[in-house]
Amino acid sequence: ALKTVPATPVTAAAEARAILARLGVPDSAFAAGGRPAVSPITGETIVEVRETTPDEAKAAIGRADAAFKAWRKVPAPRRGEFVRLIGEELRAAKDDLGRLVTLEAGKVTSEGLGEVQEMIDICDFAVGLSRQLYGLTIATERADHRMMETWHPLGVCGVISAFNFPVAVWSWNAALAFVCGDSVVWKPSEKTLLTALGTQAIVERAAKCFGGVPEGLSEVLLGGREVGEILVEDHRVPVLSATGSTAMGRQVGPKLAERFARAILELGGNNAAIVSPSADLDLALRGIAFAAMGTAGQRCTTLRRLFVHESVYDRLVPRLKKVYSSVKIGDPRAEGTLVGPLIDKSAFDGMERALDEARAAGGTVHGGGRFTDGECANGYYARPALVEMPEQTGPVLRETFAPILYVMRYSNFDDVIENHNAVGAGLSSSIFTLDMREAETFISVAGSDCGIANVNIGPSGAEIGGAFGGEKETGGGREAGSDAWKAYMRRATNTINYGATLPLAQGVKFDV
Ligand code: NAD
Repeated sequence: ALKTVPATPVTAAAEARAILARLGVPDSAFAAGGRPAVSPITGETIVEVRETTPDEAKAAIGRADAAFKAWRKVPAPRRGEFVRLIGEELRAAKDDLGRLVTLEAGKVTSEGLGEVQEMIDICDFAVGLSRQLYGLTIATERADHRMMETWHPLGVCGVISAFNFPVAVWSWNAALAFVCGDSVVWKPSEKTLLTALGTQAIVERAAKCFGGVPEGLSEVLLGGREVGEILVEDHRVPVLSATGSTAMGRQVGPKLAERFARAILELGGNNAAIVSPSADLDLALRGIAFAAMGTAGQRCTTLRRLFVHESVYDRLVPRLKKVYSSVKIGDPRAEGTLVGPLIDKSAFDGMERALDEARAAGGTVHGGGRFTDGECANGYYARPALVEMPEQTGPVLRETFAPILYVMRYSNFDDVIENHNAVGAGLSSSIFTLDMREAETFISVAGSDCGIANVNIGPSGAEIGGAFGGEKETGGGREAGSDAWKAYMRRATNTINYGATLPLAQGVKFDV
């Protein structure tokens, strides 16, 4: 009889290295003594990555500036063809890049693939957009004149991104920037260098296919905040999109303002949902569970605060606790896992600190703590925590980037709207209700103050067709769909006199 030989278990590191090779990342990207790329799944170092030196960063920005000067003259629909090819390459590499997202950021398999799907979707959106960069024609008060708007490419677009959407955020910016005629210099999170390298290899393949893409159109700078600072301070970068914590935005925003660069700030969220007396509780339960525990609470749109009307509290919260205690935590590669690891130890420590503060403020914590079953002992896996709070206070007022859901009772609709809005961040929000007045009020001027306000859907999991971003300490930027493209272009208002006289605006006389 043939003896069955057990397959050699492939470690996260070995699998990631094989993917990098398949994606075409050159060996020169790696160097002993470089920054370790660690898998949060197992804590293994996958490979050490060569970081970009300050001189190399400045040279890359210079190349991107030169590339812009050529790229801006390429007709926009032709630029769209380049983005179409990026989309095609992403389709071909979806499984590999999605898996690399799982291995490097710890997302469960469907979310890793979903992130690459989002990249493909924004490429498709941008291809259509490349024929729709419209300006208005505006009625003029002067005879024989025409007034119109023209949208022109802006220059080098800097992109600084966070670890939790290691590649999608780049694509929301880059796909639009490329069709808008800009070049892109990307500083990914220092925690997710490999997915950035993989993405760059994919873009280079698309560029080869396209032929004639100027060198430097897409550059990547690898390193920590010091490298990001070079991008922020360089006057050759007129627009910069920065995604990350509000603390980062507080440093980056003023520097951009000082040199009058355009800032697209996509910062932290402290997102809430309201469950009203008329809510469909089955639907609310599913929406809350995904929004609060999905991606192990590491989405900017993660649900962090839940206001439940006192009349349904005792019907909803016990069911929610049950879901919390039975949710499958573990290796994100395993079938059925819903909650993977936190990115690192500091994320876990931050969660513990917030739970201690919540207890001190009178909260009752269900769940929480480190999950160490089997192989999970080598990473930082946290049990999601549901915390019943007597009021909105202490840690509830800020974002802790971990799976903690603070639950509070409410009795009055006006009061709950006020509490809903009484935090610094203003990213995403939702209400579960079948009451039309409440639903409409929530999304009206007197309702949620967030950039995203949903009805009968949790706050997380946006589509690329809408503009994405938030208000207040979330930074005010908008990316992806709708008219977000305008941030990557400059607008010129043109007035043309096709008559033989020179009438002045507002009837001013100036006869010489
Ligand atoms: P982070 O703020 O630690 O880092 C984000 C990026 O900014 C990294 O690339 C980092 O190197 C860079 N950076 C930090 N300080 C900088 C500085 N002074 N100058 C230049 N670059 C600097 O964030 P993180 O831990 O990677 O990500 C989690 C945070 O990101 C959460 O707060 C989350 O809500 C937020 N986020 C927001 C959105 C959004 O669209 N609003 C999306 C994803 C994540």
